[in-house]
Amino acid sequence: MVGAGKTTIEQTTLRLVAKAGEKGILQSKLCKKIAVDSRRVSQIMARLESKRMIKREREMHNGRWTYRVVAEIKPPEFRNPKVGSLIGVPCASCKEDDKCSTTGIITPEKCDSLTRWLMKLAAAA
Ligand code: SF4
Repeated sequence: MVGAGKTTIEQTTLRLVAKAGEKGILQSKLCKKIAVDSRRVSQIMARLESKRMIKREREMHNGRWTYRVVAEIKPPEFRNPKVGSLIGVPCASCKEDDKCSTTGIITPEKCDSLTRWLMKLAAAA
């Protein structure tokens, strides 16, 4: 079940990753920006990664390993920050969130809600 706090943190995280554009953002920096401990951020990242909404690559930063996080989904609003944010992404408030992954019972590839959302964004571009 998706709680309100989790939804807010995921939305904020997605928005920050999207805003970072193609160069992405360090996961360690995300932890500071959203003021959440690194374990919780790792859980959020793993969930978003399993839905192919982000991708991560290991990177050494200031002598420590972290990840560079880049948005995988690139709807038009990512390219035009004036259009808005990821607040409307259905995954952020989805009750099936815990069951959904690329290898799960429910997959983003077969999700009507996500497809409709992406098509609506594409139409608005
Ligand atoms: S079922 Fe659809 S809306 Fe829900 S988390 Fe998966 S892709 Fe997102």
